[in-house]
Amino acid sequence: MSNDMEKNDAYSSKKCPECLTYIPVKAVVCPSCKRRVGKITDTGMARKAFDWKAYLGFVLALAAFAFYIWWAFFRK
Ligand SMILES: [Zn+2]
Repeated sequence: MSNDMEKNDAYSSKKCPECLTYIPVKAVVCPSCKRRVGKITDTGMARKAFDWKAYLGFVLALAAFAFYIWWAFFRK
């Protein structure tokens, strides 16, 4: 058994990273704010669930920004 497993078993609740409410360790959606949460971390907080849409939006925004910089300043 790994240390990770033992650590997880020691907790019965984790803290939602969005609204800071204590929620069951096994919860994948926070019952309080309805946001997706990830696994518990070493500090007893839940990880933020990976949000593909937000990630994609960020990458697209970054690409658009980079393109604008190139267009505005480096285009010959
Ligand atoms: Zn929450």
